[in-house]
Amino acid sequence: LGPRWLPVPPAAVMDSIIIQERLVEKLLSPRTQAQRSHPAKLKDHEKQYVGFATLPNQVHRKSVKKGFDFTLMVAGESGLGKSTLVNSLFLTDLYKDRKLLNAEERINQTVEIVKHTVDIEEKGVKLKLTIVDTPGFGDAVNNTECWKPITDYIDQQFEQYFRDESGLNRKNIQDNRVHCCLYFISPFGHGLRPVDVEFMKALHEKVNIVPLIAKADCLIPSEIRKLKERIREEIDKFGIKVYQFPECDSDEDEEFKQQDRELKESAPFAVIGSNTVVEAKGQRVRGRLYPWGIVEVENQAHCDFVKLRNMLIRTHMHDLKDVTCDVHYENYRAQCIQQMT
Ligand code: GDP
Repeated sequence: LGPRWLPVPPAAVMDSIIIQERLVEKLLSPRTQAQRSHPAKLKDHEKQYVGFATLPNQVHRKSVKKGFDFTLMVAGESGLGKSTLVNSLFLTDLYKDRKLLNAEERINQTVEIVKHTVDIEEKGVKLKLTIVDTPGFGDAVNNTECWKPITDYIDQQFEQYFRDESGLNRKNIQDNRVHCCLYFISPFGHGLRPVDVEFMKALHEKVNIVPLIAKADCLIPSEIRKLKERIREEIDKFGIKVYQFPECDSDEDEEFKQQDRELKESAPFAVIGSNTVVEAKGQRVRGRLYPWGIVEVENQAHCDFVKLRNMLIRTHMHDLKDVTCDVHYENYRAQCIQQMT
C-alpha cells in the first residue's frame, strides 16, 4: 500500500509533506546520529550538552519499532457510501465478501458489528487499522434504540481494556477501543433526522464523533453550505458534543494556522467516495464519471475528502487516540470505580 497512499498530492498537502520531511531530515541529520552514538565518540561541541535533547528521538525510535494502531467506526444508514468512502480513504477493498440483504430481509434486521483489520506500512511505519462497520443501522421499520448494539460494543471494548489494565500482564494489552466514529448524514434531507440526533446523543460521551455529509456530489455548493450551517446549528441546539479539533498553538506559523481555521470551518465535512479511477484533464484520478462531467474525490473544489483524510491520518490521529484515552475511557473508568466502591 505504501507508495500509493497519496498518488497525486495536492498543493496544500505538499507543504505539509515538505514540513514532515524536513522534520525527518532533522531527526536523522548527522548531528542527531552523532548524539545517538556512544558518548565516548562525541565531538567536542557536543560535550557541552548533557544529552537530554535526544529524548524525543529515543521516543520516536521506540514507537516506530512498536507500530501504531487505530480503530475507526463507520455508522449511518445503508447506501450512504460508507464502504466506498473507507475504500477510498485507505486505497483498499475491505468489503469483498459483503452480502447485501434485500428489503424483506431488512424489515426486522438487527444492527450487526463487523470488524475488518488490515496491516499497512508506509516508509517503515506500521499501522494496524481496524474498521468497525455497523451494517443494518437505521434499516429496519422500527429503529427504536437501533444504536444500542453500537453503544454496547464501545462499552465492551472499554470493559475489556479496564479488565486487562487491572490484570497481571499489563505490558501487552491489545487496545480495541474505538478511537473515532465517522457518522454519515444523508444529503437528501433538511438537516439532521431524529435517528441522527438520537444516535449522536447516545454515543457522544463514549467516542469521538466526526459527522460527515455523504454523497456531496448530489448537492450544489450553495446547498452544501446551507446544509452544513443547518447541521452545525442543530448539533448546538441538541447539545451534541461532536469531536472538537484542538486549539492551534499560538506559536505555529501563519500557514498552519490558516489550514487549521479552514479545517474547522469545513466541518461537517461533505465527502464523496469512489472505487474507480477515471481520466480527467490527462490525469488518472479517483472519481465519478457522469454524462455531464467528472467529480474528483481528491479535488478540494469538489468536496472535503482530502481535508477528512488529512485530519484522520496526518494531523489528528494521535489527538483522537488521546481524547479516547483521557476523556472517554477515563469517564468509563471513573463510573466503574464509583460503582465498585
Ligand atoms: P454503504 O451501504 O453505506 O456502505 O454504501 P456503499 O458504499 O455500498 O454505496 C452505495 C451506493 O452509493 C453505491 O452504488 C455506490 O457506488 C454509491 N456511492 C458511494 N459513494 C458515493 C458518492 O460519494 N456519491 C454518489 N453519488 N454515490 C456514491
